[in-house]
Amino acid sequence: MTVHACFEQGPIRPPSEARSLLIRPTRNCPWNKCAFCHTYRGTRFELRPVAEIKQDIDAVRALADEVRALSWKLGQGGKVNDAVASCVFGSEDRFGDAFRHVAAWLYFGGKTAFLQDADTLIMKTDDLVEVLRYLRQTFPSIERVTSYCRSRTAGHKTVDDLRRIQQAGLVRIHVGLESGCDEVLRFIRKGATAAEHVKGGKRIVEAGISLCEYVMPGLGGRRWSREHALETARVLNEINPDHIRLRTLSVRRGTALHETMGEGGFEPLGDEEILKEIRLFIENLDGIRSRIVSDHILNLLEELEGKLPEEKERLLGIVDRYFSLPETDRLIFRLGRRRGIYRALDDLSDRDTYHRLKAAVERYQQEEPGKLERDLDRIRQSFI
Ligand code: SF4
Repeated sequence: MTVHACFEQGPIRPPSEARSLLIRPTRNCPWNKCAFCHTYRGTRFELRPVAEIKQDIDAVRALADEVRALSWKLGQGGKVNDAVASCVFGSEDRFGDAFRHVAAWLYFGGKTAFLQDADTLIMKTDDLVEVLRYLRQTFPSIERVTSYCRSRTAGHKTVDDLRRIQQAGLVRIHVGLESGCDEVLRFIRKGATAAEHVKGGKRIVEAGISLCEYVMPGLGGRRWSREHALETARVLNEINPDHIRLRTLSVRRGTALHETMGEGGFEPLGDEEILKEIRLFIENLDGIRSRIVSDHILNLLEELEGKLPEEKERLLGIVDRYFSLPETDRLIFRLGRRRGIYRALDDLSDRDTYHRLKAAVERYQQEEPGKLERDLDRIRQSFI
């Protein structure tokens, strides 16, 4: 029996890193207090020794060699192509998770890597530089390495530190901004103020690292919806990140926010109120050259993607188009989206699907008023 090499992996990565190699230089989140976040609950943050991280990278190399050896055995000349992928993924138990992960990474070109977990820049600069260099040396095919980081942590690094990290190969940093409104940031215990978001974000940009800021529509609830939209736009106008990613709030059971909501301390917004908030937010983004991305299943309008400033009007037009639909069509779209059938408003033109969903909406309406809204919310909450 072959014993495959193994390496450690954390629980999450951004949607855009689905095809990346995952390497875990730190474990869990050093903050771990955000009221909406469940990912690292009950875990302790740990910095891993550089030697141990290098061992993981060596294990990936050994697995990559094994995948290529399998390719030769299958007569594919070392290429990780469809034939190799169907051998690896066609048999449930033959290959372990680490082997399958490396095979998938090579199948997609082996060009990108993501450093887990929540706040990689908290590592000593020298250590992170050493890890990045080792990863790049071991896999010269890698063109892009990205990671998560907290704004405050970025603000504690000097621009020179960040430049060294960039030169060692870190191309992009993903930051959970969530909101630029201080009341909201305090309420959800983000552990960063709007000013700290600006400081950390601007430093990353100044160091020449591509920056992706995550915004959470709906996070201010009914109480702060307007301030959340306006202040978040103001903060991002100061930072001018390369990407602004929308990730709509979902209040997950087991989080502090869910508990607060149960006690009446947080009034969540519905899909359409969140969309109005997003419109106000985009309307107030000004003087920046960011790309808005909406690639999360929780977002009602996935097609809300485009470059500022040139596509701002087009983006606002997408929201306006949604609101110009008759109420029944809006319900049909929401049901289709939440059931994973629709991705864009144009999908409504598929008449068979439309009539099927319309019948489902009518059944809901006959059954009990409010049941459809409740189910749509319930499906949204289950998307994590
Ligand atoms: S910083 Fe990120 S990972 Fe840590 S608790 Fe907050 S949202 Fe979760």
